[in-house]
Amino acid sequence: MKVYHLIYEPSYKSAVFHHWTECNLDCKGCFCRVEKLDFGLFPDALERLKDKAPETAPTDFLESPEEALKLLEGCELERAVFIGTEPALDPDLPALAKALHQKYGSYNVLLTNGVRLCDLSAIDEIIFSLKAVTNAIYQDYTGRSNEKTLDNFKKVHASGKKLQAECLLIPGLIEADEVEKIAKFIATVDKDITLRIDGYFPIPGCPWRGATPKEVTEASQRAEKHLAKVNYLSADLPRQGEKPLRLFG
Ligand code: SF4
Repeated sequence: MKVYHLIYEPSYKSAVFHHWTECNLDCKGCFCRVEKLDFGLFPDALERLKDKAPETAPTDFLESPEEALKLLEGCELERAVFIGTEPALDPDLPALAKALHQKYGSYNVLLTNGVRLCDLSAIDEIIFSLKAVTNAIYQDYTGRSNEKTLDNFKKVHASGKKLQAECLLIPGLIEADEVEKIAKFIATVDKDITLRIDGYFPIPGCPWRGATPKEVTEASQRAEKHLAKVNYLSADLPRQGEKPLRLFG
């Protein structure tokens, strides 16, 4: 398996699996390059990121879904989340999701860039990172076309699977205007799909400043013109819930 880090969030009865694969995108603002541990582990993750040296690839991985279940013994589990450097490319993700369904009946959520989909039969909800619908912006940011992602987004919706979208507001690159275009695209698929807008926070080696809470709020208001449900995260919002437990990695 490609899971190198596992945390448990007692407040949400939630396990977060961090995968490390050779991602099929090359996003300029990929924070996994500077922090591979879960942000929830640190009282001030943004402060920790300042001047942090680039990460190296992990060397220890969970061997099997059984090992994951063993680590979770004694934890009440209602939700499992798969994140990291493109979890859909982990060939063992479907088996892991299935094992969690069988043992806990967990609600399984996959965060993906949507370029390539895996077997989704044990995934209950997919959150697509759409990044940009203007292909030139997407290409500039990720190094490839957004055609597959947008196509897969429509396919997953047509399959009836629960679907959400997220995007990043990056001043000087992915601005409110682009966020509104993303919202318009989502509305052409289904205006009831939720969009979450994350305000970019500075990452060492990247040229952009962080998005201000005001900018994130304004982008959110523009998206709300097209979609029924929009929410946002900006760097000033405090962490909710108890500190997670570090189970692996
Ligand atoms: S899709 Fe995600 S993991 Fe892959 S390069 Fe982009 S931000 Fe990083």
